[in-house]
Amino acid sequence: MITEPDADARRFLAHLPVGERLPIPEDAAPSWSIFPYEPSEGGALRVRPLDAPELPEPPRHGEAGPAECKECGRPDEEYVWTDEHWRLRAFGEPHGLPAVLLLHPRGHHDLLDLPPARAAELGPMLQRAERAVLGLGGVGRVHVNRWGDGGAHLHLWLIARPEGQRQLLGSTLPLWMDVLPPLPDDLRADTLHRIAAALAADGGTAHL
Ligand SMILES: [Zn+2]
Repeated sequence: MITEPDADARRFLAHLPVGERLPIPEDAAPSWSIFPYEPSEGGALRVRPLDAPELPEPPRHGEAGPAECKECGRPDEEYVWTDEHWRLRAFGEPHGLPAVLLLHPRGHHDLLDLPPARAAELGPMLQRAERAVLGLGGVGRVHVNRWGDGGAHLHLWLIARPEGQRQLLGSTLPLWMDVLPPLPDDLRADTLHRIAAALAADGGTAHL
């Protein structure tokens, strides 16, 4: 039996142009040197040949310490929610998903050197953040990702998939994130406000 999406679910589906073929944004994944596929002369996709290894690897942003880390330099007001040890930020680029968030420890640590007390808080913190996003309604899943190839300051991505959009399952979601038309501004603002309020209900400070 197919059920009609409820009003909450429709909020995150209404701006998606179902059935239309969207253009490829100029800076989307196919233009990246790390994208595994490229068009052949005939137009069919083929796998890109591997480049020679680059050793030693170039340093990541913030590798030199907190003084040179843009994450450490951000005031709390730029975040959705903060407490003494954790800060949750909205991904700054426009995107078409219900929520794209980054969870950071306040201190300049990566996962491996996270102090034991913070490491013990990480699981409950992720559960709180996921609960806040699911509480919006209309969210099929919240993916939690830690890549860390760009910045040395630990950042975990929370990427929400609109409920019902099963074409966006799994690891394709971050690629769709760059392709879908952006969430309307008022919906994005309301969504972040609701996430901030839900987190602050259990402690910490909402900044929206
Ligand atoms: Zn930092």
